[in-house]
Amino acid sequence: MILLDGKRTSEAIQQEIAAEVADIRVHGGKVPHLAAILVGNDGGSVTYVTNKVLACEKVGFGSTLIRYEDDVTEEELLDKIQELNNSDEIDGFIVQLPLPRHINSQKVLEAVDPRKDVDGFHPVNVGRMVAGLTSFLPATPYGILQLLERYNIETSGKHCVVIGRSNIVGSPMSILMAKAAYPGNSTVTLCHRNTVDLAYHTRQADIIISAVGIPGLLTADMVKEGAVVIDVGTTRVPDDSRKSGYRLRGDVDFENVAPKCSYITPVPGGVGPLTIAMLLKNTLRAAKREIYA
Ligand code: NAD
Repeated sequence: MILLDGKRTSEAIQQEIAAEVADIRVHGGKVPHLAAILVGNDGGSVTYVTNKVLACEKVGFGSTLIRYEDDVTEEELLDKIQELNNSDEIDGFIVQLPLPRHINSQKVLEAVDPRKDVDGFHPVNVGRMVAGLTSFLPATPYGILQLLERYNIETSGKHCVVIGRSNIVGSPMSILMAKAAYPGNSTVTLCHRNTVDLAYHTRQADIIISAVGIPGLLTADMVKEGAVVIDVGTTRVPDDSRKSGYRLRGDVDFENVAPKCSYITPVPGGVGPLTIAMLLKNTLRAAKREIYA
């Protein structure tokens, strides 16, 4: 069994990005600049956004954090988005989700210029991805592709079972794994909460990618010998022995599933760390005009 080390892979990707930024700087080019809009004070969101901004600094990007209170109006947000869309300095930006209920999140996401949509959530980017055109890929599926590629995992002709159909992980993952590309060329089954007999599907899988959020959902009897298991799930479970009072658990019963696997991601330290690295990669690609020439 080989542990897929997301932390190490993420650091390698960030070093590659930092080297490119240093090169851009030396040649007098435009240093990539990411902006993040954060609404409210939700602990999780504040941590995620802070980590994104810190990661920008680490690789030499410019970064701007724009904060609003919970009572910001939709109009104010849309005005700011227009300003960022028109800014020559900002190459890419993100709006941290979730937004307060009085704001129409879809309207906000659709206001982002697809050329600056480094989260890859705009329908234009989703559509381009489905159509096989260059696009910003959502960071988590993009990170999983990187893990598969950097560990040289064979995906062609394999049966890949994706569990979970969210717009940010499961659905794009299923599309990317079926593409005529590497990683890809898999036969894909997409399972979700209405799937009857999940185990029937997972037992046939060469590759399982689980993005559900139910700790321990995938048990050893659901996994065939030699499978590759990618665990996207990150659920906070109470843990009095930790200072924070919680620890992160994945969808996979790691202890019992890992011995059966050829490759498996740990939680934490698997898919999680790659998400920020791929957001940076998308910002670099935006600055280099790689997606929309
Ligand atoms: P979500 O929370 O929006 O939806 C969960 C999905 O699981 C749904 O599509 C649902 O149909 C499916 N589901 C629910 N119960 C099921 C069951 N019993 N059997 C099969 N499928 C079932 O999905 P999300 O936003 O992709 O998040 C999923 C998990 O991944 C969460 O734990 C989240 O925290 C984590 N996540 C981690 C990262 C990261 O590490 N970078 C990024 C995004 C999400």
